[in-house]
Amino acid sequence: MLRFAPSPTGSMHIGNLRVALLNFIVAKRLKLPLMLRIEDTDTQRNIAGKDVEIFKILEQMGVTWDQLVYQSANFGTHLDYAAKLLDKGEAFYCHCTPEFLESKKQEAVQAKRPFRYDDSWALLEKESNPNPVVRLRGSAKDMVFNDLVKGSIHFKVSELDSFVIVRANQVPTYNFACAVDDFNYKITHIIRGEDHVSNTPKQILIKQALSRVLNTPETPTIYAHLPIILNEDDGKKMSKRYEASSVQWLLKQGFLPVSIANYLASMGYKAPKEIFSLNDALEWFELEKVSASSAHFSLSYLRHLNHEHLKALDLESLARVLDIEPAKAPLAKLFLEECSTLNELHEKLSAMFSPKDIKKDYEGQNFYEKCHTLYTALKSMEAVADFNAFKHEAMQKSQLKGKDFFKPLRILLTGQAHGVELALLYPHLVPLLEQILVLKTEHGC
Ligand code: GLU
Repeated sequence: MLRFAPSPTGSMHIGNLRVALLNFIVAKRLKLPLMLRIEDTDTQRNIAGKDVEIFKILEQMGVTWDQLVYQSANFGTHLDYAAKLLDKGEAFYCHCTPEFLESKKQEAVQAKRPFRYDDSWALLEKESNPNPVVRLRGSAKDMVFNDLVKGSIHFKVSELDSFVIVRANQVPTYNFACAVDDFNYKITHIIRGEDHVSNTPKQILIKQALSRVLNTPETPTIYAHLPIILNEDDGKKMSKRYEASSVQWLLKQGFLPVSIANYLASMGYKAPKEIFSLNDALEWFELEKVSASSAHFSLSYLRHLNHEHLKALDLESLARVLDIEPAKAPLAKLFLEECSTLNELHEKLSAMFSPKDIKKDYEGQNFYEKCHTLYTALKSMEAVADFNAFKHEAMQKSQLKGKDFFKPLRILLTGQAHGVELALLYPHLVPLLEQILVLKTEHGC
């Protein structure tokens, strides 16, 4: 079984979604179940409703899961296992106060040696500090684990000292809760962000200790830590400060879920084609081919992918994703010439289909009169299907020509001074012409 284990502590980051997508793809390719585990044990950082937001985003992306678990439901098991580890001497109570540990860290700094917790300190402050933490015994030797993306990763014994698994307030740490759950649910592949590399040896030590204490063999686990995503400005981590790091923000800007998924799945991956859907990726994606170097996020490239995905939609699908009447979809299709997101398309359509105060918008441009003249001419005409015929009749009736004719015409028809060729738009406007003209002129033509 694979798992995607988000914490409901904030808006979903693109890095997290990438982890979800890759877990889903690999699970499907290997025909293994995928668990969605909401890691909600950090009660101070949890935000109400973020779990539902996660479900919605995953659903929009086409990511499905076979089992849903709230980690807090396993709280009892975590504490139960901690007690078993204590019982067998794999873990021990540590009464050290934060002040004591800080002084030991300072000593290490002065002596220019790395700090390492010394198990002999555990009971020194037993009298003064009645609320101990629980530590798992550190490793007596170096550790190496193989990462499918990053290759083999070494940890020196000096880095593997005894560490906290249950806090003084009886709350299990992230590493402990996570490793207990991975052990219990027999997780075979751990795919996550590389910010978790330093947690992996701890989680391996926990699982090894659990296996001994529970007398249960460990499930062999494949690790894959995905490189972080860098921003396009300064090449540093794509932190939450960047709006574009939030999946919700990208969706609000009018990027299609399929484009976002396409982009994130192709980051650091030489995909056999540029434009693909999640379903396509199920045919060929291989986790070991993900590059170990960090990928740079580019909003303009996402725009390009979105443009291509929008272009590939048929009219019915375009109307659906834009949530517009089907009659307007051919116009949206034409506007794709100059738009790359749903929001940009909506802007064009709304300029066409919303009231416009021409008098005010073009004040002082000696323009309103021409619009008015043309408007009167158009109102007196019967619907004409052919653009050339329409043009000639309108010119004749209005007595306007050249720029004096075309600019007012474009503004009356589209609500904008520039854009897609009128000859292309016109055939789709004919059935909507009356509605458009009324809206353009309601406020004074
Ligand atoms: N809750 C952790 C996170 O959101 C999960 C890390 C993991 O996959 O183990 O980063």
